[in-house]
Amino acid sequence: MDTTTSTDLETFRRATRTWLEANCPPEMRQPLRSEADICWGGRSFRFQSDAQRLWMQRMAERGWTVPTWPQAYGGGGLTHEQAAVLREEMAALQCRVPLQSFGIWMLGPALLKYGSEEQKRHYLTQIARGEIRWCQGYSEPNAGSDLASLATRAEVHDDHFVISGQKIWTSYADESDWIFCLVRTDTAKKHTGISFVLIDMASPGVSTRPIKLISGKSPFCETFFDQVKVPRTQLVGELNAGWTIAKYLLTHEREMIGAIAERQQPRPVGAVALEKIGRGADGRLDDAVLRAEIARFEVDEAAFRAWMKLVGEQARAGETMPAISSALKYYGAELNKRRWELMMAAGGSDALEWAGERSQEGVAARAWLRTKANSIEGGTSEVQLNVVAKRILGLPG
Ligand SMILES: Cc1cc2nc3c(=O)[nH]c(=O)nc-3n(C[C@H](O)[C@H](O)[C@H](O)COP(=O)(O)OP(=O)(O)OC[C@H]3O[C@@H](n4cnc5c(N)ncnc54)[C@H](O)[C@@H]3O)c2cc1C
Repeated sequence: MDTTTSTDLETFRRATRTWLEANCPPEMRQPLRSEADICWGGRSFRFQSDAQRLWMQRMAERGWTVPTWPQAYGGGGLTHEQAAVLREEMAALQCRVPLQSFGIWMLGPALLKYGSEEQKRHYLTQIARGEIRWCQGYSEPNAGSDLASLATRAEVHDDHFVISGQKIWTSYADESDWIFCLVRTDTAKKHTGISFVLIDMASPGVSTRPIKLISGKSPFCETFFDQVKVPRTQLVGELNAGWTIAKYLLTHEREMIGAIAERQQPRPVGAVALEKIGRGADGRLDDAVLRAEIARFEVDEAAFRAWMKLVGEQARAGETMPAISSALKYYGAELNKRRWELMMAAGGSDALEWAGERSQEGVAARAWLRTKANSIEGGTSEVQLNVVAKRILGLPG
């Protein structure tokens, strides 16, 4: 539980603001121009500028790439209240998030709960410093919503596993250094025959093949494992107990996707619409139908933010249930899709522009199409609604 007093918090806020003003390069206080401006870290990451590199390094040295993780694992050791102050001050100064990664959002929380001390010290510090980029090897061609049907097989030997099989939809597999992976270590049992292992993508026998999306990009891949030898020390938790870790990690993935719009700080829809359509004689947006839709959206968005804040407070007080992450994921994903439908409506036919300087190579149209996947990735909206019905509303399965 947080025990920081309000005086402590005020002192912390002032010191944080001073430090951010002195250390966040001006270039890192500009809105993201496109996805390419996001710093993902990793061995092969190419920084867009010296400012981007410096900003990540300075924040990592302070532990503020992962503010609430313990200092022993590269974190800032902040209380949740201090971390909220840091977020507020960064938002006020328009500082970019210095480092984003699946390691921070997904693997890190799972390792903090289930990893051995050695794994925490080794992997968490690398994540905090942005040295290793992780991808997620859960889905398979015949195991998506029914994830526990996964068939990637790990033969168990004394000090290693030999892994063979295929994953699919592995986001950024071709750019990642390591993968956290669910593998089958017992074929006789479904949920209790799964283990959670960490695999270096540079291991002999690992290969990837990109899959092209409707947006024209290839952000994810098929990932193949052909007799890949993996040391037993890379097993997280107990053998055959990976499903519990997998589910815990999924609650973090769902919260991450639910909060997607907040993290990427897009411009308000109303501001974009005013810029594109202009004001009528009464000074309001000159499109009454769109105006009403935007107003409805903004009210729902404000309610969602308030709900997320409430859930965060309840979680810190130990008063929430894991299934709430499904409700957040469902609503956040649907809201983000609505946001981009409105952005497109505001932009008219120009918004569909796919190439050229004026549209920055179709940045809006591509972002709109990308949101279509929000209600699939991390578990589909239908599956989240099933969870809400069963685990929150208590309806029969
Ligand atoms: C952009 C993107 C990124 C992704 N990144 C990753 C990644 O990095 N790593 C990874 O492991 N996976 C990733 N995925 C995969 C994602 O987790 C799966 O696509 C998702 O779990 C759905 O599985 P599926 O595609 O096999 O669909 P299916 O499970 O085959 O579902 C097909 C349809 O049936 C519906 N359906 C299925 N079961 C039920 C049910 N019980 N009740 C009601 N409706 C149901 C679904 O809602 C859906 O509409 C990503 C997906 C996308 C789109």
